[in-house]
Amino acid sequence: MLKKSIVLWSIAALTGSGVCCAATNVAPSALTGKVMTVLGPVDPADLGVTLPHEHIFMDFTLPLDAPQRWKLAERRFPVTPADRALWETMISMGNRAFLIRNIWNNRDALLLQDPVQMLAEVRAFKSAGGGTIVDVTSIGIGRDPQKLAEISRQSGVNVVMGSGWYRAAWHPEGHAQRSVESLTQEIVRDLTEGVDGSGIRAGIIGEVSAMDVTAGPQETAEMKGIRAAGRASRLTGAAITVHQWMRDGMALNRTLNIFKEERADLSRVVIGHIDAVSGRDIPRLIAILNRGVTLEFDLFGTPYYLTDPRLDHRPMADTIVALVRRGYGRQILMSHDICTKLQTQAYGGSGFDYLSTVVAPYLLKQGLSDAEVRQIMVDTPRQLLTLVAPRQ
Ligand SMILES: [Zn+2]
Repeated sequence: MLKKSIVLWSIAALTGSGVCCAATNVAPSALTGKVMTVLGPVDPADLGVTLPHEHIFMDFTLPLDAPQRWKLAERRFPVTPADRALWETMISMGNRAFLIRNIWNNRDALLLQDPVQMLAEVRAFKSAGGGTIVDVTSIGIGRDPQKLAEISRQSGVNVVMGSGWYRAAWHPEGHAQRSVESLTQEIVRDLTEGVDGSGIRAGIIGEVSAMDVTAGPQETAEMKGIRAAGRASRLTGAAITVHQWMRDGMALNRTLNIFKEERADLSRVVIGHIDAVSGRDIPRLIAILNRGVTLEFDLFGTPYYLTDPRLDHRPMADTIVALVRRGYGRQILMSHDICTKLQTQAYGGSGFDYLSTVVAPYLLKQGLSDAEVRQIMVDTPRQLLTLVAPRQ
């Protein structure tokens, strides 16, 4: 049964080879009903198995001459010679276990930049029946349109690129002084004209950080980014994907309220990393689902959280099964959030094919049907990535 599923998905992946159309200046409304990839618009039916939250290229480092950025990122700034040596250590299979425990203090672990390695990683996904990867590397953390386009051309996997801004620690100089309108215009330009004159367009807004969200009237830089994302979603018909770690319900509620104030459609909003914070708290997850958003369990195979038993794939998958059984199967996504070398197969990680080869078979074994698994891995990502009619 499993083999059949993968074959079915593979057919879609093969036909959706991502080599459709060269990027041209199409008016936003002409894109309604299409999916925008780094190689131009494609037919939604061609996406196949889709990973909605990954980073093929990423620079998750922080500069040593800006300790305040480390504070914003809640990372320990390297002070002692030993700290500095750890920061500069190169990854090998020999120090992998040690670096997993110190991941945020090792520079090499936090860089995904080698196109040869990442092509091999993407090809492994394709070999397992994969069709599309959403690279949610937003502005300031190493987004690279040209390299993404090249990976897509060489692998035959569709790549959808993100836009918007991540956490304040990675905001470009002067970002906090910009207006919501200026931020909105930049996102809209990424989606309709392309990034930095490349003609390569984003197809989703995010990942947009909702970490620095406060209850008071004064809006933080991240909150302005959320507002701009909501406005740009309405103006372009693109979906939004949110980075959050929901320490309390207030931040998420406020985030969704800002989207509503901007008249964004909450059914086109994805709440990322939900597995990291909510574990098996089904009533809490259902309360969020009832606002109409999609919940993304996107930390499958992430080694540096394995000390947290909720992040073994089985409890997360069991939570998904429980939500499907309660009728929320259309509002669930799964991904790996690969953002460090330690998650890649070249460095002993589980890679981009872990969901297809380990988690999907587990879900089927737990009693989900082919159609229910396909809904999560193919249909829901396709619906979200398909651009809807823009609204003024
Ligand atoms: Zn994230």
